[in-house]
Amino acid sequence: MASFFPTRDILGAKIAICTSDAAIAFLLGELAARRLTRVAFSNANLLTVLTGTPEGTRLLDDFLVLNDGVGLDVASKLIYGAPFPDNPHGTDLTPALLAAAPKSTRLFLFGARPGIADKAASVLAQRFGLAICGTRDGYADAGDPARPVATIRAAKADIVLVALGNPRQEQWMARHGAELGAPLVIGVGALFDFLAGVVPRAPLLVQRIRLEWLWRVAHEPRRLGKRYTIDFARFLWLVLQQRRSKR
Ligand code: UDP
Repeated sequence: MASFFPTRDILGAKIAICTSDAAIAFLLGELAARRLTRVAFSNANLLTVLTGTPEGTRLLDDFLVLNDGVGLDVASKLIYGAPFPDNPHGTDLTPALLAAAPKSTRLFLFGARPGIADKAASVLAQRFGLAICGTRDGYADAGDPARPVATIRAAKADIVLVALGNPRQEQWMARHGAELGAPLVIGVGALFDFLAGVVPRAPLLVQRIRLEWLWRVAHEPRRLGKRYTIDFARFLWLVLQQRRSKR
């Protein structure tokens, strides 16, 4: 898919060069035109994990891929000499998009542990007055990932938020995104957990100095420790290889 925005290639993924505001304006246009647009917020971990899969980062070829986090800026600086113009990550961009969407927009929340999507849906309905047309947890269909498709399709959603963690959510969206009948299909990671209040977000100051990742590791060291040490070292090594081959 030709990208609406100029892009930078990082480990084979075409990352859009755009601000959060420009991405939101674009997505509202796609929603109004009912054009299928899959959105991936790509952090260093997603790209590193994808490079180890048979499809690789080509899985994201049909997505609007937005940069998420410091790792992508480090990669961009190393390869292209400049960071990205903004940090349009999903935890802030998705609520901002929902705030700007027409009030008639029908929203489906798919993913997270049982009960969490329902709680997140109540918060979003209250905050933005959107119509919640369905929720489904992210574990009930573990044996048959195609099963939620019919339910989501029947709900006639305009926006489907998919929270299965990465790269599972991107793989699911690549395979099933076009079958859902919804124009916007967005991978949102831990957003439902944040909205439901089961995972605390970093204080604003920590977010501003771009250390939210450290806050998350401190809260979930066993799950995220490897991601931000060994996996990040592998990401840097791959980025340096790309820089060398570019020269
Ligand atoms: N999740 C899910 N099904 C799974 C694995 C994960 O619904 O099989 C949910 C998990 O409960 C969480 C969300 O995916 O709400 C994001 O997970 P994680 O924090 O791992 O996201 P990441 O940081 O990897 O994007």
